Amino acid sequence: MPIHEYACRQCGHEFEELLRTAEQKVSCPKCDSTDVQKKLSAFSAVVGASSAPPCGEGCPQGSCCSGGACPMHR
Ligand SMILES: [Zn+2]
Repeated sequence: MPIHEYACRQCGHEFEELLRTAEQKVSCPKCDSTDVQKKLSAFSAVVGASSAPPCGEGCPQGSCCSGGACPMHR
């Protein structure tokens, strides 16, 4: 499933959201605003980058990617 990156227009918070449907409402986890801007996903293009975990705060299990048990990690 694709993970999309968003930037909140209200507070500037950047976050990732896992989209299950095209109509899914995305809101900022910080200020709860739905005025968010979709960014291009960089994770799939930057394979091997050590600084950014593939799941981060968008992962339902938290930072589990280092353990390899995350369903979003392949
Ligand atoms: Zn916000």
